[in-house]
Amino acid sequence: MTYPTDKDCIFCKIVAGQIPCLKLLEDADTIAFMDINPVNPGHALAVAKGHWPTVDVIPAEVLAAVARTAQRVARAVVAELKPHGVNLLQANGAGAGQSVPHLHIHIMPRRPNDAVALNWDYKPGDRAEIEAIYRRLKAAL
Ligand code: AMP
Ligand code: ZN
Repeated sequence: MTYPTDKDCIFCKIVAGQIPCLKLLEDADTIAFMDINPVNPGHALAVAKGHWPTVDVIPAEVLAAVARTAQRVARAVVAELKPHGVNLLQANGAGAGQSVPHLHIHIMPRRPNDAVALNWDYKPGDRAEIEAIYRRLKAAL
């Protein structure tokens, strides 16, 4: 299987075996390994083998394969570590906090009061604004 690579990308180097990782599993399109800066114990990454930076450019079937791998890891995390909860997180672009521009899904076990800042307060939105954006997105689909 051939896929795009970027010689300067740290995840491409991990996929190629040029940089070590704690590999959890691997299949034709994906790899999963432990995050070296875990927000909580058990934090792992499901990663596409090919170098596609973000959700808008990766082929849908590869994204589906990454999601399947994330689910396999999440099941092991839930069964073995019994965390308080698990977040799956996938960032796109520096503005979304993406530091490695090679698509990956975080499997993040949660602990009570762990201060991981992924939650937000519910504030009712402006109905007209929601509808205006809705119309633009619907037309773009
Ligand atoms: P993001 O900021 O969403 O792009 O996530 C990138 C993640 O990759 C961070 O959680 C880093 O801790 C993790 N990371 C970076 N380099 C490595 C590495 N060599 N091995 C394992 N995880 C890494
Ligand atoms: Zn890459």
